[in-house]
Amino acid sequence: MSARRARKGPGGALRETGNALGRRRFFCILSPTLIICGKHVGVRLCAVSVDLDEIPNYTQIHGLGTLEGPGATAVYDVAVGRLRTMARDAGLPLTLFAVASDLRRASAAQALRDAYAEGHELSNHSLDHRYELTRLTRHEIAQQIGGGADLIAAATGVRPTGFRAPGYTITDTVFDVLADLGVAYDSSVFPCPAYFAAKTAAIGLIALRGRTSRSVVDTPAVLTAPTRPYRAGSPYWNRASAKRRGAGVLELPIQVTRGARLPFIGTTVTMWGPAVARSLARMCVGEPLVNLELHGIDVLDASDGLEALRPYQRDVNVTHESKLESLHAVYTLLRNSGYAFVTMAEAAEAFARTA
Ligand SMILES: [Zn+2]
Repeated sequence: MSARRARKGPGGALRETGNALGRRRFFCILSPTLIICGKHVGVRLCAVSVDLDEIPNYTQIHGLGTLEGPGATAVYDVAVGRLRTMARDAGLPLTLFAVASDLRRASAAQALRDAYAEGHELSNHSLDHRYELTRLTRHEIAQQIGGGADLIAAATGVRPTGFRAPGYTITDTVFDVLADLGVAYDSSVFPCPAYFAAKTAAIGLIALRGRTSRSVVDTPAVLTAPTRPYRAGSPYWNRASAKRRGAGVLELPIQVTRGARLPFIGTTVTMWGPAVARSLARMCVGEPLVNLELHGIDVLDASDGLEALRPYQRDVNVTHESKLESLHAVYTLLRNSGYAFVTMAEAAEAFARTA
């Protein structure tokens, strides 16, 4: 287990980390300049994280009934294994955001313990994945975040240090709770105009068809938030005051491309094949942190017991082999562009002093 822990180098400034994946990375924590083969190439870190939303969350988004059969638990029973193989083949660590209540199933908790033993980070995606988290009372929000961390720790033996809100919706109250709980980082802000418009339209369309989506849209002011790591001020889409440097929860925003701020997430990377995936990745090269967020469903397809989702969730019509090929194309391009792959906690540590 000691191999996965960062070790202090001379003067405490340089750290070396490695783990069961055989990674060896060197980066300077004080000014996070990446050193590859002895050369300073600027900050180029990529963190690949996966939200392990189990399938019932998708039936809720679309306002559908309960899905029966093996498909209902395909994320933990099938996707986690594929993700671990993908990560091993690509030689990169994943950060797995777990919905804590899913870990009441013994096999799900075991899957995460196995993933942690391989060098992946476990992080907190709340207790119950309440899409309306931001509309709960402060006490209930604290239960969802703190209770989620407690249950993940009890089920896996690992206390998560980060948080991601369900459905990318967050508020100042949620940030206050995160500050109270002392989380090392949050990664929920998604300043993406295309995503915001698509989500608003989808919820309206579902309502027009007489169903009710559990999804929630919050303020469009999120679209003015920084696209690179920053300390959240009040309101959270502003940076914390420069005078209060070091104050405010460290936010690692979900990735958007430069320019049009297109969504660089699992859905857009896996939907149209490797060529489009590479084009999107190229539009992110040069960013100090590429924070690529996937979902478990991004490595599943209809044949994994998800036939019923075909009309509603277009990405299950793409084969998981094709999706993995697109992801591999992205990792290769980023690695060839000088990116080192790190966990979210490692990325947070690298940016904590400069954000
Ligand atoms: Zn989620």
